[in-house]
Amino acid sequence: MKKGVMTMGILLSTKHGVNPAIPICYFCGNEKNEIILAGRLSNDAEAPKNAVWDFAPCDECKKLMEQGIILISVKDGQSGDNPYRTGGWIVLKEDQFKRIFKNSDEAVKKRCAFIEDSAWDTIGLPRMVPVR
Ligand SMILES: [Zn+2]
Repeated sequence: MKKGVMTMGILLSTKHGVNPAIPICYFCGNEKNEIILAGRLSNDAEAPKNAVWDFAPCDECKKLMEQGIILISVKDGQSGDNPYRTGGWIVLKEDQFKRIFKNSDEAVKKRCAFIEDSAWDTIGLPRMVPVR
């Protein structure tokens, strides 16, 4: 296998050059207003489209996080960094959030919380909220 070429600090892919990709926001799943030059990846792979590259929110989510906590519904029993999402997506003001959820410090710090479907429905959060 040929080695990549180092140019301007990017190790170029022999097949895909700077290997550009538009990153997806971890929180809302929309494309961010930025481009990633992935360069040479292992096995000289093409940079994945529609992929999440980091946990930095997009501009839109960043604004919403200043206003409140983003809640995302997930399947019961799911946890970790990438739980199975079920479509619920709302923003609660911080004081509302704290009133409903105990032990909310972590989520308040992260400005985001994954809520299991059963809890989501028990609390009576709406499923479809027209945002953006
Ligand atoms: Zn976002």
